[in-house]
Amino acid sequence: MSVWLRALAAASLLAAGAVGAQPTSAGQPAGTFAFVDVDVLPMDRDVRLASQTVVVRDGRIVAIGAQDEVEVPADATMIAGTGKVLMPGLAEFHGHVPGGDDPAYVADTLALYLANGVTLVRNMSGDATHPELRARIERGETDGPTLVVASPWLRGESAAAVTAEVWAHHAAGFDLLKLGSIPADTWPAMVAAANAAALPFAGHIPEGVPLETALGAKQASIDHLDRYVEFLVPPGTDTQGREAGWFGSGWVQWTDRGRIDDAVKRTRAAGTWNVPTLSLVEHMASSEAPEAMLQWPEMRYMPAAERERWRRAKHEYATRETFQPDAAQALVQLRRDLLKALHDGGAPVVLGSDAPQFFNVPGFSIHREMAMMQAAGLTPYEVLVTGTRNAAQALGTPEAFGTVEVGRRADLVLLAGDPREDLTHARTPLGVMARGRWWPREALDARLADIAERHAK
Ligand SMILES: [Zn+2]
Repeated sequence: MSVWLRALAAASLLAAGAVGAQPTSAGQPAGTFAFVDVDVLPMDRDVRLASQTVVVRDGRIVAIGAQDEVEVPADATMIAGTGKVLMPGLAEFHGHVPGGDDPAYVADTLALYLANGVTLVRNMSGDATHPELRARIERGETDGPTLVVASPWLRGESAAAVTAEVWAHHAAGFDLLKLGSIPADTWPAMVAAANAAALPFAGHIPEGVPLETALGAKQASIDHLDRYVEFLVPPGTDTQGREAGWFGSGWVQWTDRGRIDDAVKRTRAAGTWNVPTLSLVEHMASSEAPEAMLQWPEMRYMPAAERERWRRAKHEYATRETFQPDAAQALVQLRRDLLKALHDGGAPVVLGSDAPQFFNVPGFSIHREMAMMQAAGLTPYEVLVTGTRNAAQALGTPEAFGTVEVGRRADLVLLAGDPREDLTHARTPLGVMARGRWWPREALDARLADIAERHAK
């Protein structure tokens, strides 16, 4: 039995306080649980339902109602909820799971997501092992959030190559295509093959493909607000031979905010989701020294080599001509304003930070992202919607998860306070349920301590 499972078994008995409770462990099906006398944020509407009982069986929510109206099954593990808040788990819609060549790092990454209440990760660049990892998590054989698995980055250099790539990824069982750096003239072939294979495509918009072309092709999601800066520069502008560069950072000075409204309308009409990943850019653009950022508490959970890559990347960006403090701050502000305009204009937004990437530690970064979205002008409740209900909608399965309702997958977090009042209540959940399996805080903390201890060596 691993340290993780021993801690889990001991802690789930302690926290549940139930005689005869069955501790969950890898390979066992999720059992029956009852959250008793808990306040529920159902997230289908902005309301807090007081003193509810929520019953979970075999990975699904099977009953919810006032405490005195719902019977607790005799075999249920009871979880005391008095004074606490139960809401859907969060989605990281632009996350990464490491490749299968380092199983310990994979397991650690999945645990970091869970420890932060992330119960679904759309893994935005897959490798050949990820479809099987997705299946193992579904079967309860591996601990982790539900995975949606994108293909490796598309790279086809010709129409024929990209077409073959799309069909190979289809055959390998990926859920969607990760758009990377394909040449613009292969775009039509990629779209045709993706549509024929019924595979959504998402991620970047390749260089040379205009925003309106990606929207016209019904790209499933645009991640990182890619190519919006270029759209906001009026056609015919003299950009002095300068490249648009990293997320348009080289062209910010020529953007016309009068064009934001048009960008919003086009995005809404296309139904394309945006995964803003504000933190990806803001961590690079901030005036905080990378050495200071590496002192953030969550950095202890990252391998030293990854931390060093981030430190060097930030130093490198700090020397870019187009990324000097004023320009970098203008890019940050423009992205925040764009997010607010997209959200308020009805263009759909789903939560994602891009982890592990540039000081984004898996799971922890989703909470930093949510704080940035609030700083951009969304209310805490609106931010939480992007990470719960919207994720289910973005996958085309609005009834699968993302709200606390009968029939939904039991992806839940138990919190000490109401995150609609203060988003920090969503950090360090008291317990996390993923696919009906329960991890109390003690088990999550034991797992975190194990990871930190190994990286401290
Ligand atoms: Zn990414």
